[in-house]
Amino acid sequence: MSDWEVDSDEEFRAGSRPSALPLLEWQPAMASAQGRRSPGSRPFPAPRDPWLSGPLEYRPRGPPRDRGLGVPLCFHLDNALIGTIIGNYRVIRGTYEAEVKIFGSNDAQNKAKMLIDDLVKRYGQNYPGDRTEKGKKFTVGELLDLPPIERNFYKESQKIASMPQEEVAKWRKENNNIICDDLKEGEKRHVPNPVCKFEDAFQYYPDVMANIRKVGFKNPTPIQSQAWPIILQGIDLIGIAQTGTGKTLAYLMPGFIHLDSQPIPRDQRGGPGMLVLAPTRELALQVEAECSKYTYKGIKSICIYGGGDRKGQIKMVTKGVDIVIATPGRLNDLQMNNFINLKSITYLVLDEADRMLDMGFEPQIMKILLDVRPDRQTVMTSATWPDGVRRLAKSYLKDPMIVYVGTLDLAAVNTVEQKVIIIPEEEKRAFTRYFIDTLKPKDKVIIFVGKKLTADDLSSDFSLQGIPVQSLHGNREQCDREQALDDFKKGRVRILIATDLASRGLDVQDITHVFNFDFPRNIEEYVHRVGRTGRAGRTGEAVTLVTRNDWRIASELISILERANQAVPEELISMAERFKQFQMTKEIKKDLGRPRGKSQKGF
Ligand code: AMP
Repeated sequence: MSDWEVDSDEEFRAGSRPSALPLLEWQPAMASAQGRRSPGSRPFPAPRDPWLSGPLEYRPRGPPRDRGLGVPLCFHLDNALIGTIIGNYRVIRGTYEAEVKIFGSNDAQNKAKMLIDDLVKRYGQNYPGDRTEKGKKFTVGELLDLPPIERNFYKESQKIASMPQEEVAKWRKENNNIICDDLKEGEKRHVPNPVCKFEDAFQYYPDVMANIRKVGFKNPTPIQSQAWPIILQGIDLIGIAQTGTGKTLAYLMPGFIHLDSQPIPRDQRGGPGMLVLAPTRELALQVEAECSKYTYKGIKSICIYGGGDRKGQIKMVTKGVDIVIATPGRLNDLQMNNFINLKSITYLVLDEADRMLDMGFEPQIMKILLDVRPDRQTVMTSATWPDGVRRLAKSYLKDPMIVYVGTLDLAAVNTVEQKVIIIPEEEKRAFTRYFIDTLKPKDKVIIFVGKKLTADDLSSDFSLQGIPVQSLHGNREQCDREQALDDFKKGRVRILIATDLASRGLDVQDITHVFNFDFPRNIEEYVHRVGRTGRAGRTGEAVTLVTRNDWRIASELISILERANQAVPEELISMAERFKQFQMTKEIKKDLGRPRGKSQKGF
């Protein structure tokens, strides 16, 4: 049966998902073998259910009135059609031979049947009865009458091709312990050898090489080395890597080549060819900034984000751009109002997918992707690999490979010294002031707080005390947020007070300190915050205030500290023990309160 269905656009908009949605397991075995796992996510057992198996179902997108069961009709569809709208119907899941069930009023059923009959007639070979004789399998693009997509731009150099596998394994281990796997069902493909030099990936693309020379990078970062040969071959990729690892360039460079090398010239495609979806305005702007560092064959990009000038963005889009970098909310708005054509997108990036899900963007992403070509190439990045991200990947990527760069393991971030201070809530401000007073003139610090109000409160406190600070949180006007970030980046202020809006994605290289005024919502966010410092080989210091209210996280924090060989305060250990004791007592009390069966009565 279908995993979930969307009955109406309204449901999409409201962001509701049927609660009966079964969890789709899709977990590569490779990571468990390494004992690596992002906090909060599950271990990685071998894949359990096949890649979207089961019947294909069409459900009407209109309101669920007049439902009747239509005549089931079987024909051959490719999995990549998932998410596609054919006429008024959306393909939810399917394998090669799929049962099509049509629901809806008689009128709707007849219309759908006509559409399907038409498809089956036009591509008779796909009809099961005919397939055995003719055996031809059509691509999704052909089935939907879409212009062809060129995908493979990789010519492996002799040097890389002849690398012995032991050397490849050693290289991966030494470069942030990269783990890769092919997530395609059935026979595994060879994950290409990493490229060690820029030339190994781009020797046939002199314009790319010229850009790299211009910015002066010496070598590819680990994620780039492993991602480029995969993406350049046209294979979908999941990159588990954080900002700061060079992941933007990992997808941008192959994207430039992909855009420029399509059979249909850019100006005849009727819309942009590349779309990057990013969770926050800051990250979208940062990707845009990275993109505009490079000039490639006149490729134009635009950043579309809520809070920015909507009219100006519409004007730019209408004039014609090649790359759209967007936050899902604003893009969805422009899409619903027909200001942007996404049907020409052949290269899609879901950047920081975990963060997009955390921020509740899944419904918008789904709506956006209904319009994007189903046979596109897709790259997804995420710092973590929890269930939601796996589900997203499973729905929207086709036969991907996964590259896991172990930056989430704090043991790898040995450049950050982590200090934990156990403190009463009411002393936090005084301690923060003391901490600020100990900073050296060249130090740069992000002070993380839990609430927007606290950010405002602390920054006005410090301003009144004559300490120049900036603040960054979701309630500030976009222009103020940009100004705050710019002031901090350029060093006009050296203290930024921020909510977790800044915990991921921000690329400010010279942050010397992270100060956690409030402990974050979860341990993953802690890892992200700490990762704001100690970047690009520099050293950094993270100071975290922990109050007795934070006792739930004590044991997780201890294991992070231990893995990174950091000192663990005695008080934190006893806090963790107290919490464990508290939980046990709670369990026992709950157990005692439970009604007991007769046999237990006299026990
Ligand atoms: P990102 O992870 O994409 O946010 O990139 C972080 C920073 O690393 C950006 O400022 C990039 O310009 C920079 N960067 C990207 N690739 C490289 C490279 N190969 N060598 C040095 N810096 C790089």
